[in-house]
Amino acid sequence: MIDGFVPWPPDTAERYHSAGTWAGETLGALLRAEAARTPDNVALLDGDRSFTYAELDGWVDRLAGGFSAAGLSAGDRVVLQLPNIAEHVAVSFAFFRLGVLPVFTLPNHRMAELDHICGLTGAAAYVTIERFLGYDHRGLAKALQAKHESLRHVFVVGDPGDFSPLPEAPSAPDTPGPDASDVAFFLLSGGTTALPKLIPRTHDDYVYQARTAAEICEYTAETRYLATLPIAFNFTWGCPGVVGALANGAAIVLSTVPDPQVCFPLIARHGVTTTSIVPTIAHSWVGAAPEHRDSLASLELVQVGSAVLHRTLAEEIEPVLTARLQQVFGMSEGLLCLTRRTDSPETVLSTQGLPISKHDELRVVDLEGNEVPAGEAGELLTRGPYTLRGYYRAEQHNAGAFTEDGFYRTGDLVRVTESGHVVVAGRAKDVIVRGGDKVSAAELEGHLTSHDRIEQAAVVPMADEVLGERTCAVLIPDGTPPTLGELRRYLRDRGLASYKFPDRVVTVEAFPKSGLGKVDKKVLVKQLGLDAPPAPDGAGPEPELAGARDAARS
Ligand code: AMP
Repeated sequence: MIDGFVPWPPDTAERYHSAGTWAGETLGALLRAEAARTPDNVALLDGDRSFTYAELDGWVDRLAGGFSAAGLSAGDRVVLQLPNIAEHVAVSFAFFRLGVLPVFTLPNHRMAELDHICGLTGAAAYVTIERFLGYDHRGLAKALQAKHESLRHVFVVGDPGDFSPLPEAPSAPDTPGPDASDVAFFLLSGGTTALPKLIPRTHDDYVYQARTAAEICEYTAETRYLATLPIAFNFTWGCPGVVGALANGAAIVLSTVPDPQVCFPLIARHGVTTTSIVPTIAHSWVGAAPEHRDSLASLELVQVGSAVLHRTLAEEIEPVLTARLQQVFGMSEGLLCLTRRTDSPETVLSTQGLPISKHDELRVVDLEGNEVPAGEAGELLTRGPYTLRGYYRAEQHNAGAFTEDGFYRTGDLVRVTESGHVVVAGRAKDVIVRGGDKVSAAELEGHLTSHDRIEQAAVVPMADEVLGERTCAVLIPDGTPPTLGELRRYLRDRGLASYKFPDRVVTVEAFPKSGLGKVDKKVLVKQLGLDAPPAPDGAGPEPELAGARDAARS
C-alpha cells in the first residue's frame, strides 16, 4: 500500500470483499480476460488504426516490458498527458500491469498544474505527446525536468526529440503485478482548493464501478463507444466508458475533439452505439443533427452529465439525436448516478439518476450537518465501495473534506426523490462549472492576486446560455486594473491551463461581506447581475454595485 493513501476501514473492506463487490480483479487482468474471451473483436479504433483485443493485450505487455526495462517499477508515480489516442489506453494498461501509478492529466494542463503534480507525487516519469493542438509538449517536459529531480524519464509519442519514444520489449516482465486492493491510478479533483488534489482509485473500486455501470448501460460485445471527451476524465474512462467497454469485448472509437463535424462522421463510419458528453457538447450536437440525421442512425444511448442539463435541452436530445438520453451525475471522487431504461420519461428528464450500487450510502444534510427531512435539499454526503476515503497526501484537507465516519462531503446540493433518484439543486462549493470543466475559484484567485496591480480577487460564476457558467474575475485593483487580455496573457505565462482563464473581468471598490467577514459571493453575483445570462445583444444587466466597472472585452 503506498504512503499517502487512505484505505477503507478493515471491517468495511472485508464487507465489500465478502459480498463480492470487490472481486479481486485488477485492471490488467480485466483486459487479459477479455483478450482471451474475444481475441478477434476490435478493441480500439483510432483514425485509420484499429487494434483487436489480442493485439491490444500484446501491445500492453510489450509496453509493460519496455517501461520495466527502462527502470519503472511498482509504486512509481508517472504523469500521463495524452489526448484520446490508442497510446493513452495501451500505456495506462501497461502501467496497471506493472503497478506503476499514472496520474491522469488533461491535454490542456500546463506547467502550473504539472509542476504541482510532479512535486506532490515525486513522479518518476512523464508520458506525453510531441505536439497537440499546436502546443509543443516537449518544451513543457524540459521545463518540468529542470525543476524536478525525481523525473528520471520522459517518454514521447511522435518525434521524441531529446527524449525517449515509448519503450517496447519483446514481452511482459516477469513481475507479480499489483494486488487488486492497491491504488491503480490517480484522477484529478475538480477542486475547491488553491492546488489540484489527487484522487486515488484502486483496481477493486474502479473495476467495480465500470463493470456495474456497463451492466446498467447494457454494454455487450456489440457496443461501440465513442470516447470524445478527454479519456482522462472519469466520465469517459469508467462511467462505464473505456474501461466498461474493455470489460465487455466492446469497441472504443477515439476522437480527440468533440465537434459534431468530427464526431458525426465517426459515428456513421463505425456504427457507434453510445457516447458520453457534457451539456455544452449536447447543445452543439443538437444544433448540427438535423442536417446529419443519417449519420446518427446507429446511436442508441447518449449519456449527458458532468454539469447541469437544462430541461429544454434534455427534451431535445431523444427526438433530435434519435437516441435514448441517460442523465449522469457523478464525480471523480466516486459516487455515480445514472437514470435507467426503466425510468419514466419524466424521471429521465427531471432527475440525475439513481446511484449505481446498493452499497452507495447517501446523506443529505443542512449547514449544521443534520439530515434534512426526506425530499428537501441539502449538501450531499456519500460513502461506498468506490468513493474515496481521502485525497492523496492531503491529511489537513481531508480532515474537513470527510466526516468522521468516512462520508465524503461532495459540496453538491441535492434532493433525493421518494424513488431514490438524485436531483441536483445547486452547489455549496466554490467551483465554476464551465461546460464540463471545473475551475477552482481559490486556485484562480491565488494566481490573480499574485499580479502586482491586483489587491484582491473574487472569482465567481456568471450564467451563460452555452456553457452553463463562465468565469468572472471580480477585482479590487491596486492602481490601473489589468484588462482581460492582459490577465489572460499573464495567466498563460504562469503556465495555467487556458480553460481556467476568466471570461470577464469586473473591478469594484469593495466586496460585500458575510457575517464572518468572508466575501459574500452570492451577494456579489446578484449585485453584478451575473446570475442571469446576458441579453441576446450581449448587453448584460447594469451592475448594481456602486463603482463596479467592466474591465473586460478588451
Ligand atoms: P468531476 O469530478 O470533474 O467529474 O466533477 C464532479 C462534479 O461535477 C460534481 O461534484 C458536480 O458538482 C458536477 N456534476 C457532475 N454531474 C453533474 C450533473 N449531472 N448535474 C450537475 N452537476 C454535475
